[in-house]
Parts: sequence; structure tokens; C-alpha cells
Amino acid sequence: MGRFAPSPSGRMHVGNAFASLMAWLAARAEGGRMVLRVEDLDERTRDRSVAETLIDDLAWLGLSWDEGPYWQSERVEVYADAVTRLEEMGLTYPCFCSRADLHAATAPHASDGTYVYQGTCRSLSPEEVEARRAVRAPSTRLMVDGFEVEYVDAVFGRQHEVLDRDCGDFVVRRADGIYAYQLACAVDDALMGVTQVVRGNDLLGSTGRQMYVQRLLGLPSPTYGHVPLLVAADGRRLAKRDGDLDMGALRSRGVSAERLVGWLGSLAGLVDKGAALSADELVAYFSWDAIRACNHQIVVDADALSAV
Ligand code: GLU
Repeated sequence: MGRFAPSPSGRMHVGNAFASLMAWLAARAEGGRMVLRVEDLDERTRDRSVAETLIDDLAWLGLSWDEGPYWQSERVEVYADAVTRLEEMGLTYPCFCSRADLHAATAPHASDGTYVYQGTCRSLSPEEVEARRAVRAPSTRLMVDGFEVEYVDAVFGRQHEVLDRDCGDFVVRRADGIYAYQLACAVDDALMGVTQVVRGNDLLGSTGRQMYVQRLLGLPSPTYGHVPLLVAADGRRLAKRDGDLDMGALRSRGVSAERLVGWLGSLAGLVDKGAALSADELVAYFSWDAIRACNHQIVVDADALSAV
């Protein structure tokens, strides 16, 4: 079982469409099923009309699913139970660090500018915790002590993550009470029977944390494949402001789903440039080898797309 796990924070752009298409092709090429899970825990993703448009864009692309949509905002008790279990294992602690504290007191991660949490709030005494609680609500962090994992990514090959080194203790529930992406995603992938996660490679570094949560809760982990990211000419990942690359602009320009699917398939090296075919027809061309041969970042711009 594969999955779509979109966060409806705005209109889907071609980068999201690419990752969704790859996830769908990978599942369908193996005769697998798909589940659609809307990751709408964050306030910025709660607008149902944005989510409905996103779902319509998936359907328009010809990407079908067999289960869902499930809404994470309707599954909060599931995440609460998971965090309670982690708390009962004695593996969590309240963290009062502000964003500024984190950046001041933590070691930047060598490669990607994210930080490694140094455990600042781990050793607070019960009295200190009470005193701080009166001033601000804490987030809840999960201790990662010594967890290491090896797995084989379908694109990146063998991966070895050491959570102490790669991220440190991480947040499972934010100070505003919202369950963190790492926790909710890990729990849902396992509980929804997902066996294959295919997503953009900006999330490669999340995999170890998600496998750790699954391991602690006695849940199975899926396999992972982290597909290329579509980036703008200056190397930035595509964002909402690249409005000409979003599905709204493309659809109102009259681009057909077949041309868009063909173009996305050609970026992945599955078919030649200029191909126009349905997602169903593209399944026969799906190949992990072709995707492995791609750059991890694929530059796209509006001009390339105007040819679509
Ligand atoms: N909801 C996340 C996003 O849209 C993706 C989560 C995932 O694929 O694991 O960025």
C-alpha cells in the first residue's frame, strides 16, 4: 500500500504533482493500493476548500486512491494515545526552549542547516519544570538515546542514521498542543497499512525519526523511496510564490492532464520529452532505475512548462 500525504497549505504545484505521481506509479506498478491522507494538523493547513481543491487536482491528474481521504485533524486521539505511550515509557520530557533559544544553543547540522537539539531541557528538575510551566507551555520531546537505524532507500541506497548525531531529541507535540509531523506521519503510515512511502527527498532526513517512533510503539515500518525535488532555476525548492507552476495556472491555461503527466514522466526519465499520456498508461514505463539516474534536484522553470 502506497500513500498520498499532502499538506493543504496552498494550491498543489508541479513539484507536489511530481512526487504524487511517482508515489502512485510506484504503487500501481506493483499492483499496490493507495491511501489518501490529508495532513491538516497545522493551522495553516485547515482550510477544507484548499484541501478539496488539492484532492480535485489529484483526481484530475488521473491519480486514484482506494482508501480515504483520511483527515489527520480528525485523528487527534490516535496521536494523543501514541504520545501517552511514549510518556509512559519514560522517554519524553517537556521542553521550554523558544525558537531563538534553539538556534542560539544548538549545533547547526553540518549538511542542511537544521539543528541538533542538545538536550537543554532534559535535566530540568521537577521544580524548574513547574516554575516554567507557569510562564509558558512546553513542547514534548522524545529522547533518541542511542537509536541507530539502517535501511535501504529505493533511490539513495543504504542509509545509516544516528539520531543523537543527526537531530537529537525531537518534538512529538508542539507547545501549542499540535502533534508534530514526525509523530503523526509515523503512526499513520503504520496504522493505515502503508508498506511503501515515496515522497520528495527533502524528507529523507525524517525517515530515521519516523522509524524510531514506529519501533518504540511496536509498529511496522514501510520501505522508503525519496524522489527528486523539482527546484526553480536558482536552486530554491518550488514554493507557493512560483504561481505560474501551480496546478491552478496550468489548468486555466488549458494544459491537459496527459501533457502534464507526460512532462513529469519525462523529467523522471520514464518517457521522452513531449510525450502525452495518461497516468494509467505511464504505469508500464515506471522504473526505479530511471529515477535513480536522475539528479536529486531537477530544475524547472515557467519557460520549460510553457512548452507543455
Ligand atoms: N505532508 C507532508 C508534505 O506535504 C509530506 C509528508 C510525507 O510524505 O511524509 O510535505
